[in-house]
Amino acid sequence: MNQQHQDLIDRDRKVTFHASSHLRDFAHGKAPGRVITGGQGITIRDKDGREFIDGFAGLYCVNIGYGRTEVAEAIYQQALELSYYHTYVGHSNEPQIALSEKIIELAGPGMSKVYYGLGGSDANETQLKIVRYYNNVLGRPQKKKVISRQRGYHGSGLATGSLTGLKAFHDQFDLPLEGILHTEAPYYYHRGAEQQGMSEREFSAHCAARLEEMILAEGPDTVAAFIGEPVLGTGGIVPPPEGYWEAIQAVLNRYDILLIADEVVCGFGRIGADFGSHHYAIKPDLMTVAKGLTSAYQPLSGVIVGDRVWQVLEQGTGEYGPIGHGWTYSGHALGCAAALANLEIIAREKLTENAAETGAYLQRAMADAFGDHPIVGDVRGVGMLAALEFSANPEKREHFDPALKVGARISAAALEENLIARAMPQGDILGFAPPLIATRDQVDEIVARTRRAVDRVT
Ligand code: PLP
Repeated sequence: MNQQHQDLIDRDRKVTFHASSHLRDFAHGKAPGRVITGGQGITIRDKDGREFIDGFAGLYCVNIGYGRTEVAEAIYQQALELSYYHTYVGHSNEPQIALSEKIIELAGPGMSKVYYGLGGSDANETQLKIVRYYNNVLGRPQKKKVISRQRGYHGSGLATGSLTGLKAFHDQFDLPLEGILHTEAPYYYHRGAEQQGMSEREFSAHCAARLEEMILAEGPDTVAAFIGEPVLGTGGIVPPPEGYWEAIQAVLNRYDILLIADEVVCGFGRIGADFGSHHYAIKPDLMTVAKGLTSAYQPLSGVIVGDRVWQVLEQGTGEYGPIGHGWTYSGHALGCAAALANLEIIAREKLTENAAETGAYLQRAMADAFGDHPIVGDVRGVGMLAALEFSANPEKREHFDPALKVGARISAAALEENLIARAMPQGDILGFAPPLIATRDQVDEIVARTRRAVDRVT
């Protein structure tokens, strides 16, 4: 590492604390740092000038790749024209209006309105408030509980961290909050001993039955909503087993429970459809979007409200007056301008189609390279989302001793190969979510580097 780079990291250690890092080790120089200075296409560059293929598109968000001047121009022009004005009490800006029209068009029939935030966490916070408001207006104040899933990821605020179903996000903060429950994850590879031998469809029916048991045990008139990612993301990149969403929706409909589709990762092309909901025939009442909405050129998220919910919210105005909810930066003009330019690129370059086609190639290439590898238990994914799950004994699906940190070591070995592949937070799982612009040659390179990294550790 060159001296300039080292000096920057030393300055950083003194004054910054980083997400998901070992606070003490980083502050005291025992955990590594890195300063990223540039990005172009699917690669990023650090202060040493070293280049890495970004196999995870930042945090699965830089879908159009780095260094797109068109988006930079759009932000610049908008900043000259109108950098910001709040969007309270009916104030708007032109990019916000055009973006809402675009999102509603993409989301499809039944979707009615968009409310903006800055990231997935605050958008899901808004969802929870909408769900409460909805039931208050309907005169059902007791119908407030929300069911999420083990291994779901929905953010890291107090309420959204509660929705998240990962231990690492709970224990330090006494979460989950009351009224937020977690049902079984649709994790076919990890189904329990009693479920061995079940087909995917049978396992989906089992997950739906577990959900129904929970609803009945809590009392259906106390359960307001269910939230899920079309494909479990941070919890391990787990596409749902066959028939899962159909079975879940049948249960929710039976008990008048709202469905929130958290599209923060899947939205805008990642799995080869505009939304994960379209891919899996999910009919949500509410959708959460962020990440791919701007490809992270600006922070922006959205809550998409369906007709059924919107009608009730409108009705609430009579009783409550103006809604007591708002962020200073909701509908930020620069975020909306960036999103419009980003969505224009996705459409023009057919990146959703590329995510389907090159994504299918990625899935095949991963399966060919690792399908019978002695420490790979599962190769899975959909579109431009993929994962390798490592196992001490793939036949018996045995985990490695967590102390061996196999996933983290393989991710570190990938870095040595100048490839970023993410060690997912729970289990020995290596995740991939390349920018949607990736070509087959680049996929080949990602797989080749991953193969070398895995071989370094085994
Ligand atoms: N929902 C999902 C599905 C996510 O993957 C994430 C972040 O990874 C979030 C919500 C939270 O988004 P943010 O980190 O922008 O708050």
